[in-house]
Amino acid sequence: MVTQDGHRKVPRFTESGAMVNLSSKKLRVLAGVAAVAGFAALAMPAQAVQTSGGVPAPVQGKPAEVAVQGQQATAKAASSNTNIVRFNKLYNTGAIMASKCKEVNVSLRTAAGVKAYDQQLLTCMWQAWAPTLNAAGYNYKNKPTLIIYNTKATTYCGVISSPTSYFCGHGAASEIYIPWGYIASLWKQSPTYARAYATNTLAHEYGHHVQYQSGILSASWSRQYAFTTLAAKLEESRRRELQASCLGSAMLGASKRYYPMSGGLYTQWKYVVSHSGDQPGGVRDHGSIANHNWWSTAGFYAASTKTYVNRCNTFNSASNRVA
Ligand SMILES: [Zn+2]
Repeated sequence: MVTQDGHRKVPRFTESGAMVNLSSKKLRVLAGVAAVAGFAALAMPAQAVQTSGGVPAPVQGKPAEVAVQGQQATAKAASSNTNIVRFNKLYNTGAIMASKCKEVNVSLRTAAGVKAYDQQLLTCMWQAWAPTLNAAGYNYKNKPTLIIYNTKATTYCGVISSPTSYFCGHGAASEIYIPWGYIASLWKQSPTYARAYATNTLAHEYGHHVQYQSGILSASWSRQYAFTTLAAKLEESRRRELQASCLGSAMLGASKRYYPMSGGLYTQWKYVVSHSGDQPGGVRDHGSIANHNWWSTAGFYAASTKTYVNRCNTFNSASNRVA
């Protein structure tokens, strides 16, 4: 859906975070995908919780964490997953390091341009997140692979059939898929908007990488799988997605003086995060527009020169904040 906002088309925002857990071939988990978040020019009514037409992301196979026999073991696994998402060591880490990388001055008109732009930003994020992951005792050396594609891609986690920013984690590998043609189309409408969108999208996907390294992504998928109602499954998806946005914004906030996230880019970024989220009437898996803006703003923490992961604990948040 494309809606109008003044003279500029407000683009659709699609992305999803998927994960494959390969503890063994038999226990291979294909958890994910096809989650679609919409950009919409209209604010979501506060009470609108729509699940009609909402289908939880397909989960095929059994997550290793819950593929254990007996109620006791299952209960233990459930409790463990909740501990991982709510009380993760990530939340006790200090200020996120400021990346001193500058934004790359390149046109996003071509695949090569988008790749050059995102590749450097990815490296900056990798460097900036390393001390936090290391402090929490997680693997900080794994660097996601950036894959620029146009309309369709076949990934380890599944097929992407429409331009969607996408995270896929499996084993020690993390892959981030970015649809360059979509970003190029934004560039034609507004280069500054395209930069803000590209920056925020990669930051969000990197947020999924941080979740993956810390075990949160896997634990959250296991929780989602274990919940029995559609409403509970969707709420878990929203907690996971809103956290990815918050983490992405926290990284951008930590680096705001250097990137810099200021001036027109900051103005457009605020527009991006305040218009992203579930479209009215669509699947409620990424969070309302109001809540997406709230968590993005919380992570960015404009009032401070430092940002912290513990501002992004969506898993310990009241349901209305992750509606
Ligand atoms: Zn996501």
